[in-house]
Amino acid sequence: MISLFRLLTFCLPLFLTTSGMAERELWKVGVSSETVTPNGPMWMAGYAGRTRPSEGKTHDLFVKALALQSADGTRMVFVTSDLISVPRPIRDTLEKQVAEKFGLSPDELMINCSHTHCGPEIRTTRWALDGLPPERLQAATEYAEFLQRTLLKVVGDALVDSSPAKVSYCRARCGFAMNRRTPSPTGFRNFPNPDGPVDHDVPVLRIDTPEGKLRAVMFGYACHNTTLGFYKFCGDYAGFAQQYLENAHPGVTALFVLGCGGDQNPYPRRTLSLARQHGRSLSNAVETALETDAKPLPPAIKSAIGMATVDYQRPPSRDTLLQLARSTNKYERIHAERLLKQLDTEGHLRQQYDCPVQVIRFGTNLTLIALPGETVVDYSLRLKNELSIGDGSGPSVWVAGYSNDVFAYVPSRRVLLEGGYEAGGAMRYMTTVLQHGPFTPTVEERIVSKVHELIRKLVSKSSVR
Ligand SMILES: [Zn+2]
Repeated sequence: MISLFRLLTFCLPLFLTTSGMAERELWKVGVSSETVTPNGPMWMAGYAGRTRPSEGKTHDLFVKALALQSADGTRMVFVTSDLISVPRPIRDTLEKQVAEKFGLSPDELMINCSHTHCGPEIRTTRWALDGLPPERLQAATEYAEFLQRTLLKVVGDALVDSSPAKVSYCRARCGFAMNRRTPSPTGFRNFPNPDGPVDHDVPVLRIDTPEGKLRAVMFGYACHNTTLGFYKFCGDYAGFAQQYLENAHPGVTALFVLGCGGDQNPYPRRTLSLARQHGRSLSNAVETALETDAKPLPPAIKSAIGMATVDYQRPPSRDTLLQLARSTNKYERIHAERLLKQLDTEGHLRQQYDCPVQVIRFGTNLTLIALPGETVVDYSLRLKNELSIGDGSGPSVWVAGYSNDVFAYVPSRRVLLEGGYEAGGAMRYMTTVLQHGPFTPTVEERIVSKVHELIRKLVSKSSVR
């Protein structure tokens, strides 16, 4: 019988020669996944007009983690979720927990949500919980606690799963996202606009074993995850795309990262079969990206996170709010009542918000920017334009929205000045953070200049080394 020692001494050189890669050329990568579908009926997130709790599921909702470790031991953990939002308290708690348990710093953690409108409501803040009936309050609180525990578990599991891997970047395109802001005589309305800006890039991070077997794909797309608005739990097009990829590649984990899709919708929409079709289109785009020559990413990573302070326009007076509280529009009335309560209990309405901006550099080959809020497409188009080198020799640029704190729509200066839903009209529907109205037109510059500041910090850090 061949001894274990002989087997190991036989296999080890074989492993190194078949992979053909020395340890210093490889990353260490781990992946993990957990379902977060509520066990029973729960109120759902995304549409203010829902009138009853969920009624079953189409498929499960997941949180997933991808943990990377570079050759010098620097780590980065990406967490993705089939959920409406990343409320700041969830991110802050997870940030503390992973620092204590795993020694991760805040910049080494990125959390993104798919923004499916067929997931459970996530209520964690005072204003999101205010006035809920006791039963709904209890269900929301228990779910938030369960989610928090599960997020910590996926991060821990992904770190434990760590094994040598190759990481590369590729991309393709997918066309079902369309701009949803159409000018009309009464302002911009939510309607497909074939002339509006779009970002059809599908960036893909591919993870292979040293021998070249696919282990995971993390892919992005800039489009609201809103084909559906029914009463079943469902990951919508992003959920189907991940499901199709995992079915086609058994053992592979597929993670979806939502881009700057604040003003983009999937069209056509409203039926389950369309959600499946869009999911298929996106999974096909990822398959196509996997067929291209992927750009190898040597095992080097640096990340930085910082706060961009954005200002709100002048708040309404108490008299105006009292008037609005008598409005015949239910949503306007409720918003005014909540703001009056905020004024009474806190003494003032919000004037500023500090939102997290994150930059992750994969050596000099790929820069991933994670923006907060429901960022509109102008951000990804602008940043890709400003950060890419025209001849393709510079770093590829991947811009994610809906990351680390989804507190409001984040319009560009253009969208803000045009007005409409994403410009500030949606503020009355925001539950997690109570906000009275639009940001000032400086919002875009505050966020973009923070991105550039963080990149400069990372570049100077690398050149010092
Ligand atoms: Zn949205």
